[in-house]
Amino acid sequence: MFLSLILGEDKSWPFLQRLWREQIRFYPKRILLIVISTIFMAGLTALYPLVIKRALDMFKDNDPRILYQIPALVVMVTAAKAASQYIQTLSVQDLVLQIIRGLQKKMFLHLVHADISLVEKEAPAQLSARFTTDALSIREAMIRMVNAFGDAITVISLIVSMFYMDWELSLIAALLYPIAAVPIQKLGKRVRKASGNMQEQVGKTAALLNETFSQARTVRVYGMEKREIRRLGQSFDQLYDATLKIIRGRAKVDPIMEVLGGSAVAAVLGFAGWRAAMGGATLGDFSGFVAALLLAARPLRALGSLNAAMQEGISGLNRIFNIIDQPIKIKDKMNALPLPNGKGKIQFQNVHFIYPDREVGLHGLNFEIEPGQTVALVGPSGAGKSTALTLIPRLHDIQQGQIIFDGVDLRNIKIHELRSAIAYVPQDPLLFDMSIIDNIRIGNPYASKEEIEKVLEGAAINRFLGDLPKGLDTNVGHGGQCLSGGQRQRIALARALIRNPRLLLLDEATSALDTESEHVIQKALAKLRRDCTTLIVAHRLSTIRTAHVIIVVSDGKVVEQGNHDYLMKQQGMYARLIQTQNLDY
Ligand code: ADP
Repeated sequence: MFLSLILGEDKSWPFLQRLWREQIRFYPKRILLIVISTIFMAGLTALYPLVIKRALDMFKDNDPRILYQIPALVVMVTAAKAASQYIQTLSVQDLVLQIIRGLQKKMFLHLVHADISLVEKEAPAQLSARFTTDALSIREAMIRMVNAFGDAITVISLIVSMFYMDWELSLIAALLYPIAAVPIQKLGKRVRKASGNMQEQVGKTAALLNETFSQARTVRVYGMEKREIRRLGQSFDQLYDATLKIIRGRAKVDPIMEVLGGSAVAAVLGFAGWRAAMGGATLGDFSGFVAALLLAARPLRALGSLNAAMQEGISGLNRIFNIIDQPIKIKDKMNALPLPNGKGKIQFQNVHFIYPDREVGLHGLNFEIEPGQTVALVGPSGAGKSTALTLIPRLHDIQQGQIIFDGVDLRNIKIHELRSAIAYVPQDPLLFDMSIIDNIRIGNPYASKEEIEKVLEGAAINRFLGDLPKGLDTNVGHGGQCLSGGQRQRIALARALIRNPRLLLLDEATSALDTESEHVIQKALAKLRRDCTTLIVAHRLSTIRTAHVIIVVSDGKVVEQGNHDYLMKQQGMYARLIQTQNLDY
């Protein structure tokens, strides 16, 4: 009865059990400390009314010992309670924070390895909300739960001391409290639902804010301010509504408890008054009893509102577990192979890949690239060229067919080793908010000074270093926004080059590089290409012409293949793309 009053629905149990299994039980010493200090604290609170009763009884009997016994007793009890309270608060907070940290680390570990499609399904701010707002509500609920344990002991010991002082009065008071259970349970359910909505809304608002601020330039130039103000305004309104719903639920609990508590005190006073008139109990008994009743009010009220706070925490926990439980599909097979020896031969055999919930993708892609070759993928926009690149480092897994890397289906190779042989430069690379050199070193943390010098030259980075205040140590800002698009691309390229990859994947930017840098980079790439296979989603004619093989992709299929001269002679799609200059779309 007591537990169900606190926990409301049984649905909370599995979450709490799991939290216990996965986090809490690993801290047995701390739990013991919390239990002991909580019992101490609660038990000492229950001594207060007994001290009052003793004082009043001595007072009535004109006992001279009241002068030194009672003050000493009061100081001892309060000091002991204060000390146990201090220890209890610290140990509870520490345990709860450790558990939250454990959940955060577990969730991050999962997300950092999770399939890219899973991570990209939600806005980054929505995901971060799981680490902040949800963690906060769980923390709140857990602290309340431990305190509830203390409150329950306080109430039980107060009830014991009440029965010890006056069992008849105790019975009257005790009858009234359980009536509170029903409305409080109902409120708990409602709060849980409202809490889910609110947390969701917090995430959505954060995602919208993130979008508006990260696209601050577009917002201004396209005069989107009013639209954004309206959009965010609506989101703030919904957040207000969702939060108010919880507050409404929570706000009802205290008054209900207050009224019930008041009725209990009134009934007790009435009964005690009637009995005093009949010449019953002592003043000490009565005062001690009323003191106990009043002391019990706060912990009882806290217990009453616990369900609501718990439900908020449970719904946060639910969302965190939902993330942790999402299966990771792209992972090493049981008997995954090491990276095969080879020079970077790639074969796409009847490769099918369709994005989840979409019809688009690749529908039977076939081609073969010999080691050391440079292959340009060209074709209309949306044909599936970039998608084909992402399949090689297994950012997505194909649904049919196979991609063979140096003789082995790449799904059989250990992912870590496979990726270590690949360098990838996306079309519009974002950099990490750190120095240029650190951004480059991501490609190979063990690169020597000479190797770095070489790629700085190769990726034409030396050309703009002089303009930067701290040269290589200049911080690039959030996403690399303190640099131009072309500079960002060159840093991303340097990162790829320093990896010394077996396979280089380039998603060529359409316009980020100036002609001169492009020339330098082409030269560096030409040198590198001798040692590695290069697959470029190409938009520039200059890149395409230097490729050994051009693969023309349309609607997720290869429609033509050959070098520039051959394909021009065919007068097919490639010739049309070149003639209409449609390569940049
Ligand atoms: P290309 O590089 O040839 O321009 P893409 O490979 O980028 O084409 O895209 C191929 C198709 O897949 C397009 O229709 C595009 O809308 C769709 N697409 C690309 N990325 C995603 C994604 N993450 N989720 C769903 N669909 C996508």
